[in-house]
Amino acid sequence: MKNIAIIGAGITGVTTAYQLLEKGYEVSVFDKNRYAAMETSFANGGQLSACNAEVWNSWSTIIKGVQWMLKKDAPLLFNPKLNFHKIGWVLNFISNIPNHKKNTILTAKMAIESRNEFKRILKIEKINLDLEKKGIMHLCDSISSLEHGRRVNKWLAEAGLNRKEITLDEMLSIEPTLNLKNFVGGFYTKSDMSGDIHKFTKLLANSCEKKGVKFYYETEITKVSHNKQQPIITFYRANLLSKQNYDAIVICAGVNSKFIANELGDDVNIYPVKGYSITLLLNDKESVNNAPYVSLLDDKAKIVSSRLGKDRFRVAGTAEFNGYNKDIRADRINPLIKWCNEIFPRVSTEHAIPWAGLRPMTPSMVPNVGSGKLPGVFYNTGHGHLGWTLSAFTSKQISDHIVRKDNCNNKI
Ligand SMILES: Cc1cc2nc3c(=O)[nH]c(=O)nc-3n(C[C@H](O)[C@H](O)[C@H](O)COP(=O)(O)OP(=O)(O)OC[C@H]3O[C@@H](n4cnc5c(N)ncnc54)[C@H](O)[C@@H]3O)c2cc1C
Repeated sequence: MKNIAIIGAGITGVTTAYQLLEKGYEVSVFDKNRYAAMETSFANGGQLSACNAEVWNSWSTIIKGVQWMLKKDAPLLFNPKLNFHKIGWVLNFISNIPNHKKNTILTAKMAIESRNEFKRILKIEKINLDLEKKGIMHLCDSISSLEHGRRVNKWLAEAGLNRKEITLDEMLSIEPTLNLKNFVGGFYTKSDMSGDIHKFTKLLANSCEKKGVKFYYETEITKVSHNKQQPIITFYRANLLSKQNYDAIVICAGVNSKFIANELGDDVNIYPVKGYSITLLLNDKESVNNAPYVSLLDDKAKIVSSRLGKDRFRVAGTAEFNGYNKDIRADRINPLIKWCNEIFPRVSTEHAIPWAGLRPMTPSMVPNVGSGKLPGVFYNTGHGHLGWTLSAFTSKQISDHIVRKDNCNNKI
């Protein structure tokens, strides 16, 4: 039996703990917060979306990014203040433009696999996460947006995903609450779903704990080192600094993974891409009846929405390249509220809970899943805008990888 430590109790850390426990390892999870899923896995867009697998590496993203620099409420905001980390990341992002199609197909395949694995876990764990199996609809406001969607559809079809183009009438029959006056058509992926990432992660962590995973909350990893055989973590817990060796560690530390990787001599290039959400509390009958159950993705505004049970409606979006701060800015929250008022005028936006989180984004937009340079060091991190969608798959991928290494060397 091998002892494995996981750094991070977000969606990637907790699903990794679940998979490793199933494979018979002794697992300990460390997180600086008091509960699981308190950082980026707290209040995201809720979409389990193979249909949103298109990576952003394209010249049109770069051109739009530059144009949007002068617009305060643009979906993408790039703070022009540069540092080595940002410059290196952007150059690497550009160097991945030729991989646009390849990485989109790869991500869609991973998302489809992830959906199957997610369903398998749910069958065993029966977690109530306000899951909606009503599909995801893309809303397009122009012919060029439809044409782009048609091109991407071909790639998604290559990956095995059926995202079908639909007319305005079909959109209304699928989701009757929509105000479609700004749109010309859309796409619908029936097989996609939505649900509350925070509920799922927290309840899966509880289930792992009951089955024997040790959770060390309010425990900050201050240093990760290596004695050439095993990784050693130094952590601060209840005012005490302690050290512990493990046979292996899996780094699932979101936007902090880069710094932990640096200590271990690995280059894990992750930039924090900030996003915002509002959670509308549907306190009156009119709002309950007029908020959509089908999860939505507005192609132009880059806004997604998900119904979370009867009385909550989540709206999320924007990508801000602005360092590690998690300040909630009114000028970034307002477009989310405005979007809601326009598309769902009968839903009250009186009670909107704002939130901001940092997407751990790699320049290729493909997560970093695999071994580090030193023995017993593994990564499952860098899931960017699709961590909820991809984690069930990547946690299986990393745990299978660890088992393979373990069987090969009798050493992980
Ligand atoms: C606005 C927004 C909308 C989104 N919408 C969607 C969506 O609709 N669908 C989708 O698939 N994805 C979406 N995402 C992306 C998704 O939420 C993330 O990819 C995912 O939550 C990342 O999970 P994680 O486990 O990597 O990181 P986190 O959830 O941030 O977990 C990392 C954990 O590591 C811990 N940690 C880090 N360093 C240390 C340390 N030194 N010591 C102890 N603990 C440490 C942190 O406390 C944290 O709990 C969205 C993201 C945002 C911001």
